[in-house]
Amino acid sequence: MNNLSKQQRHNKAAIKQEKNDACIGSAEHELARRSANMSAIHSKDTKPEMVVRRGLWRMGFRYRLNHKRLPGHPDLVLTKYRTCIFVNGCFWHGHNVALPQMNKDEWIIENSACCKIPKTNTEFWIKKIVRNQERDLEVKHKLNAMGWNCITVWECELKPAKREETLKSLAFTLNEIFLNRYRIKPYREQESQNNMAAEP
Ligand SMILES: [Zn+2]
Repeated sequence: MNNLSKQQRHNKAAIKQEKNDACIGSAEHELARRSANMSAIHSKDTKPEMVVRRGLWRMGFRYRLNHKRLPGHPDLVLTKYRTCIFVNGCFWHGHNVALPQMNKDEWIIENSACCKIPKTNTEFWIKKIVRNQERDLEVKHKLNAMGWNCITVWECELKPAKREETLKSLAFTLNEIFLNRYRIKPYREQESQNNMAAEP
């Protein structure tokens, strides 16, 4: 009996140690892990981005990649549609997460289905994600001011079950943008009078 409880104690201690070891990963550790993960998924030819590229290409859309001269280097640039597309990772850009709320020295975090802020080093992650969100907004404002439309496609919208629907709605939006740009402007009386006045 005594032996058994000793064994149990030992097991408990081992489990605790294991948990501690797992927690030791500092923010930097975790960042490195996530970054490595991200560069595997999110580098130039990342999977979510490739899904959008292949999908649009298949539907006949043509684009440029990572346009160096545009703010934020949009993932895809469709000149004909005057549109920039960003394919965003849900965690890094805090998809559907309202950030941040402080209440009595505690962070009030409302995670979303696709973005869960880690419970350790919470403040570090919040700051990082908020910075990304602010940068995203700033880039979009700049692009809008230059006359570009911006569309964000989220990683979670590209999961196999949702992929086709997302791509179809993306194509629909692009076509709407195109039609709006080239729609024939309504006839305006004043313009025609000016034109006539210019005749000799
Ligand atoms: Zn998401």
